[in-house]
Amino acid sequence: MEHKMFLYDPNIHGLQIKSIGSKQVTDTAIASLRIALKSYFETYGVVRFIVNLGEIGDPKYNEDRVTESMEYQAKYIQTIFHFHHFIEIMTKDALRDIDPIYAIKINFDNLETLKKIQDRSEIEDSSHSIEYEAAIKRIMSLHTAEEVPVLTKIFYKKNVKKYCLDTLNQLRNRAWHRGKYILKYSELDQFMTRNLLPLVVDIVQSTNYDESGYWKYNKPATLQIDPIEELLKVGRGHALDYKRIGFLKAVGLACYNHKRSYGIERYTKRSLSEIKTEALVSQRMNNSYESRKCFVCNKNSLILFQDEDSKYDVDTKTYSRWQWNWKAECQECGLLLYDDVLNPKEYGIKDYDDIWISKIVNYENTELDL
Ligand SMILES: [Zn+2]
Repeated sequence: MEHKMFLYDPNIHGLQIKSIGSKQVTDTAIASLRIALKSYFETYGVVRFIVNLGEIGDPKYNEDRVTESMEYQAKYIQTIFHFHHFIEIMTKDALRDIDPIYAIKINFDNLETLKKIQDRSEIEDSSHSIEYEAAIKRIMSLHTAEEVPVLTKIFYKKNVKKYCLDTLNQLRNRAWHRGKYILKYSELDQFMTRNLLPLVVDIVQSTNYDESGYWKYNKPATLQIDPIEELLKVGRGHALDYKRIGFLKAVGLACYNHKRSYGIERYTKRSLSEIKTEALVSQRMNNSYESRKCFVCNKNSLILFQDEDSKYDVDTKTYSRWQWNWKAECQECGLLLYDDVLNPKEYGIKDYDDIWISKIVNYENTELDL
């Protein structure tokens, strides 16, 4: 039997995505920005099993093991590609907003195309729209216009063109065409917090590009910090604190993943995540040691996981055993932290008890049968 294929016909399949509100805004651009930020935040979780964050940024430490991780590479590529897509699409939207012709790729050899443009017919065919570099070039050329677009003013700000837009394009092209070049974990943190994140936030705030606010998480009211704002502050600092960035990425990701839970709470007064947490801790599943209120989602669903080790000192003939918390995971919002970051209070979560506690649980003068 012949293998059936999907026969794509643009006249039958697919759906034209509508613009949001009155503005010329492409939904996929906003979706891309959201995915880009989430992917960047996910890089913290993948690095933990390869290296301790304390070593990141240390010139003596070789980061190649992280860079070679397929998981890191996948997150990196998603991050860069989606930021690139966002910038390209929103720049073209800004051009179209002024005149639809401004976003069109024009083939000067084809007289028919020129005639169509002259007659203003079929000018909104997006399949012939310009690409990233041309879009930026065109929007920047409007700096002498009578009414200078907001985006043009942003792109003309110091360091934006060279260190944000051109660098992003280079990184995207090197990963896209050659497929073998990516930034190291610490370099991505530098590029994101110092260059790109400030630009992206400036764009969405100054242009009001995304009136729906979908690009950003809905920060739970009880969370004392806004991770994106905190990351901007870190980026303005002299030296980057990779542990702090890791913590903020984990909190940011939890904010994106957090969904208000409905349903069962009406009957139980507790969320499913809290019931699950209690069950896991009571049975000490996977060394789940204790639970407490999560500082992101405010549910009693943050589980602290414990590990232990012991040592026998031959000289003093003493046997000691330690326990320490090494992981904190919320069953509600998915917050996932490891003990290579500091306690939450070090990053602005006030009055929150330390989660990284270690203690000697047994210390005896014991003659061991060695
Ligand atoms: Zn939580």
